[in-house]
Amino acid sequence: MPATVARPTTLDDLVRAVKTAAAEGRRVKAVGAGHSFTDTACTSGTMVELDGYARLLRYDRDAATATVQSGISLARLSRELGTRGLALPNLGDVAYQTISGAVSTGTHGTGIRLGGLATQIIGLELVTADGSVLTASAAEEPEVLAVGRVGLGALGIISALTLRCVPAFHLRAVEEPMRVDAVLESLDELVEGNDHFEFYWVPHTGWALTKRNNRTEDPVGGRGRWRELRDRVLFENVLFGAICRLGRMRPEWIPRLARLAPGSGRSEYVEASWRVFTSPRLVHFVEMEYSIPRDQAVTAVQRLRQFVDDSGLLISFPVEVRFTAADDIPLSTANGSDRCYIAIHVYRGMQHEQYFRGVEQIMWELGGRPHWGKLHYQTAFTLAGRYPEWDRFQALRRRLDPEGRFANTYTERVLGPVAG
Ligand SMILES: Cc1cc2nc3c(=O)[nH]c(=O)nc-3n(C[C@H](O)[C@H](O)[C@H](O)COP(=O)(O)OP(=O)(O)OC[C@H]3O[C@@H](n4cnc5c(N)ncnc54)[C@H](O)[C@@H]3O)c2cc1C
Repeated sequence: MPATVARPTTLDDLVRAVKTAAAEGRRVKAVGAGHSFTDTACTSGTMVELDGYARLLRYDRDAATATVQSGISLARLSRELGTRGLALPNLGDVAYQTISGAVSTGTHGTGIRLGGLATQIIGLELVTADGSVLTASAAEEPEVLAVGRVGLGALGIISALTLRCVPAFHLRAVEEPMRVDAVLESLDELVEGNDHFEFYWVPHTGWALTKRNNRTEDPVGGRGRWRELRDRVLFENVLFGAICRLGRMRPEWIPRLARLAPGSGRSEYVEASWRVFTSPRLVHFVEMEYSIPRDQAVTAVQRLRQFVDDSGLLISFPVEVRFTAADDIPLSTANGSDRCYIAIHVYRGMQHEQYFRGVEQIMWELGGRPHWGKLHYQTAFTLAGRYPEWDRFQALRRRLDPEGRFANTYTERVLGPVAG
């Protein structure tokens, strides 16, 4: 429970919120859309809500850049960019998050030639612990830009970001069930032969639901509003939610219910990129996601399948598998190597710990790094060795926030104290 909540609408308000908290000896934490599964955005000090600080400030269509206030949601940002002929090159599978919350935890989509959202940042404006406003770009404070793109909110409050965009584009989406063994056999081809490839393995079956999204010059078509409503709301949420509820009441039915999944059939359509990447998620769940080196993907999925079979656990949610390119951000889960992301989910109200701990052990043994915004059981002690540039992050943290003004219980667990 925060002691107080600040709702800035101007940069001055934001600076004042940080200065007041400092004067009164309170910690400060910005919250985005609150869509992290961890307590990363929680504080018992001052919580800064940025819902009223969410405008597109400026854009340059020719240079394909845009500067936004930090509280803008990915949905609003995508719409605003779209009307100006621009887009983000990639997105995750929902757009509820704020841009600053998303980048702060290393949020990513899928596409082996593209990095996570934070790799698009070319300028950062931060309110730091003493209330000063720090502007970072390749020319000015380049270290703050290089390191601060994935910061878990531990370096200061991001007030604005400048993003490298691309001209707006359409995607051809092809969604179809395949045997999971066939997916794994031709995984490299699928990952490299598509701009954005992902699949969902359906536990207790040999099936995977695959998604292939590729850029196209073709006009929007192939999925009317009714079909979109049917597939994305009725099938993926209302019916899926009912199946999950049934599975929670009668877990022994889960394997039989899972066999309904491949029945969704094949669909193909063309839409604006962000409308293909993201969709509504109305079924509530808890999630853990691990990034592993890309070359461990097949082993990881096989071991996960074996674990589910051996453990006797009954899992009603498909396992999501995605891919991204390596990047150079110290705390990015894709730092230094191309990655495969494996996400597991459990319907709310069902037991998740045995499943999450079992899968975490597999992913950890394969060189995994947990998503900063999703559940995991690691600590600074275990994580430090997984990030070759850990000390570089900690050095900037000491410089910008020597007293731990932006710390909370989560940063204490996963980053440790701000060492002197
Ligand atoms: C349904 C669902 C789908 C998801 N899909 C994906 C996906 O496809 N890919 C993926 O990678 N992740 C995904 N996630 C995880 C999600 O993207 C991250 O947890 C993200 O951080 C949530 O953004 P938020 O705006 O809700 O931030 P919050 O959860 O509110 O905050 C996250 C962190 O950012 C910090 N923060 C927020 N604003 C600021 C600021 N202005 N300055 C400094 N720090 C700030 C907070 O303090 C906190 O540490 C999903 C989560 C859900 C619930």
